[in-house]
Amino acid sequence: MLRSRPAALTVLLFAIFASAAAHAQTALVGGTLVRPAQGDTLAGATVVVEPSGRIAAVGPSDEIDVPAGAERLDARGQYVMPGLIDSHVHFFQSGGLYTRPDALDLRFAKPYEQELSDIKARLPATLRRYLASGITGVVDAGGPRWNLDVRAQAEQMAQAPRVGVAGPLISSVARPKLDLGDPPILKVETPREAREVARRQAEARFDIIKIWYIVGQGQTPADFRPVAEAAIETAHEAGLPAAVHATELETARAAVEAGADVLVHSVFDQPVDEAFTQLLVENNVIYIPTIMVRERYGEVFAGAYEPTEAAKHLGNEQVLASLDDLGTEVPADSLPQRMRAALGRDVAPDAIPPSQTAISNLRALHDAGVRVAAGTDAGNIGTPHGPSLFYEMQLMQQAGLSPMEVLETATRGGAALMERAGAPNADALGRLQAGAPADLVVLRENPLDDLTNAATATHVIRGGRVFDASELIGAAKR
Ligand SMILES: [Zn+2]
Repeated sequence: MLRSRPAALTVLLFAIFASAAAHAQTALVGGTLVRPAQGDTLAGATVVVEPSGRIAAVGPSDEIDVPAGAERLDARGQYVMPGLIDSHVHFFQSGGLYTRPDALDLRFAKPYEQELSDIKARLPATLRRYLASGITGVVDAGGPRWNLDVRAQAEQMAQAPRVGVAGPLISSVARPKLDLGDPPILKVETPREAREVARRQAEARFDIIKIWYIVGQGQTPADFRPVAEAAIETAHEAGLPAAVHATELETARAAVEAGADVLVHSVFDQPVDEAFTQLLVENNVIYIPTIMVRERYGEVFAGAYEPTEAAKHLGNEQVLASLDDLGTEVPADSLPQRMRAALGRDVAPDAIPPSQTAISNLRALHDAGVRVAAGTDAGNIGTPHGPSLFYEMQLMQQAGLSPMEVLETATRGGAALMERAGAPNADALGRLQAGAPADLVVLRENPLDDLTNAATATHVIRGGRVFDASELIGAAKR
């Protein structure tokens, strides 16, 4: 008896380890693959996902052997797609009414300290909301130094997207109302100072250097250019990409001539010209249109904000509720005159249309072969974390991109940004192929019929682990 005990234990242990390994492997069987990187679909397909976080095999179901003991997920009638990437978010902002006292100062109604502590307390839930939305990667385009903690938290949690972060914005203007000791925006006045700030950010291991290229009244883009150039040069010396906020054609041109790798907004003021388009193509610039955020600010300030169905389902309830506070919780007579005037008028929700210039510029740049990545500026007032990407994708379709092309910008486009930012194996991210990272989403409805169907995730696979989307949203609400 005593002798047989170790043998029995060995058999038992073997069984435990064998079953643990088998359970970690998953096969999505019978679904229709949507492959934006290839621009096609494949019906009746199987994807085998490794516990190591890679796709082991993908192809027609009759050609793919499902390994014995793999967990099978019946995907018949469903759509399997690479996980989405939102290339432009800000975790230091909630998306609610009180999150930008520099734009709308309501600190008398809610102290900014309280807003920031709510945002930090809610961070794990915010990360889960992204994943529940089928968004398996996000890039924070600038914020306080605690953005590094956001990335660390996401790396520790299983239920989180992969996160890339920029640090405090190297800016032509100051925003003192946002400075509670760890400012998201730093006014930088000399090239020497820009080099110093960018160097320190690279040493702190931020993924991207971000520049806020704001041209004030009476200024020209040439005024800030030496500072931008110094920051971009320093970023490149450290092997990091430089992302620039520049929303006018001449500012964006100056930024790209200075070496910018990424433009995080559309050109809003006028149509792009041939020289600018060629400059973006030749410099391999990633263009993030970020169309929706301006419209949403306008709607909230006009008392005309209506959340989308996806936002109601996937967004944070308190954040969305705060967007109705103007004129109720926040008395109308405490608001700036222009807002009181807007609230007095009965502004219809469609009264603030998305920028047609931004939309036609997206079409022109995409047609010319510029690399486009979908991004929302989530966190800004009226643009909640998680579901906003679906609305942005609809606006991109209005520009004339096909649903498949839009999905390409929200998968491979974001992957191109993550690759520049040094994310491991990002070159295969957003591809449904063996060896690629197993970041996937299973959708109930076909996103190619209607891009709002991209919001119908039933399961989300992140790094080879399978999550039920409704459990994720349930966990985010607890
Ligand atoms: Zn932004």
